[in-house]
Amino acid sequence: MQPVPNGASVQLGEKRAWTIEDRSLKRIQRHTAENYPHEACGILFCHSENPRHICAVREVNNTTTEDPAKRYLIDPLDFLAADQWAEKKDLDIHGFYHSHPDHPAIPSAHDRKLAWGGYLYLIVSIIKAGSKEIRAWIYEPEDKQFNEVAFKATGRPVENSHHE
Ligand SMILES: [Zn+2]
Repeated sequence: MQPVPNGASVQLGEKRAWTIEDRSLKRIQRHTAENYPHEACGILFCHSENPRHICAVREVNNTTTEDPAKRYLIDPLDFLAADQWAEKKDLDIHGFYHSHPDHPAIPSAHDRKLAWGGYLYLIVSIIKAGSKEIRAWIYEPEDKQFNEVAFKATGRPVENSHHE
């Protein structure tokens, strides 16, 4: 429950940014950097009482049989294992991350084809020196498109999160 200050209106509607734990963000940055120039992917978890805060992540192998520099695929068995892990930890799967090596953090036509409605998709634009930009998207099945959502780390802004 959110405490409501006296007389103040609390705005926690669609405009509220998604947030991510710093250590989860660092894990995503490390994982996507290690797999450069291939795409890396993983799963995002939230507590059900705080569904816009990513509190844990799990790396998953990119099992695509196509070009791994341009595609990623999460094995259904890995998804199932993540789901079972989440249940034990009292967490929910709320989305996925993957990297775009040497490309912007914008969903591709292929991403649209694979997307599940309502899930958060974090896309990491990665270059050789490290992650360049991270943007967050939610797929709207009715419009058949991704809408960008505000997204930030709990400690500091995600923009310009270069690392060596
Ligand atoms: Zn993509």
